[in-house]
Amino acid sequence: MIAQSETIHPYGMTLTNDYDTFGAASAMVEAAEQLTRDEDARGGAHQYDLLHGAIAALGRRAAAPTLLLTSYLLRALTIAGWAPTFGQCSRCGAPGIHNWLSVSLGGVVCDDCAPPQTPYVTDDVVQLLAALLAGDWPHVEHAQPGQMRQVTSFVAEYLQYHLEKNLQSLSVMDQG
Ligand SMILES: [Zn+2]
Repeated sequence: MIAQSETIHPYGMTLTNDYDTFGAASAMVEAAEQLTRDEDARGGAHQYDLLHGAIAALGRRAAAPTLLLTSYLLRALTIAGWAPTFGQCSRCGAPGIHNWLSVSLGGVVCDDCAPPQTPYVTDDVVQLLAALLAGDWPHVEHAQPGQMRQVTSFVAEYLQYHLEKNLQSLSVMDQG
């Protein structure tokens, strides 16, 4: 179990003057709490290490808060055993870039596997998701706001789908 006050306190001086940074930190902490709430702690100590690194990156302004939050969530989900797939079809494994983005199927799916109503995204969005998951910052820093909005909305939805719960703190991601 990760206590919010213990985690944020050491960085409080830096974070509280910046709403976006504070919002991203709050969302990271809430997600970590939810991901580790079960007794069979999902990722346990690894989750704490990841959270600590992400909060530190926020504190030193390593990248825009939304980018750091989104990358953190993708990696936390991966540690929890819910790694999304962006490099091949997440259902049949067909290689290549696919553009149907499915929360319930865990990433991109090919033309044959995409259920009706699956959102279609551009190659740029798929590559941005992959770059955020991999921590490929030079690629990520060129992200367009429209692409980021699609990416953050997918990641927020994907997290909440697996937690089976809505997290209030994720509203910070709506601001793109
Ligand atoms: Zn497929």
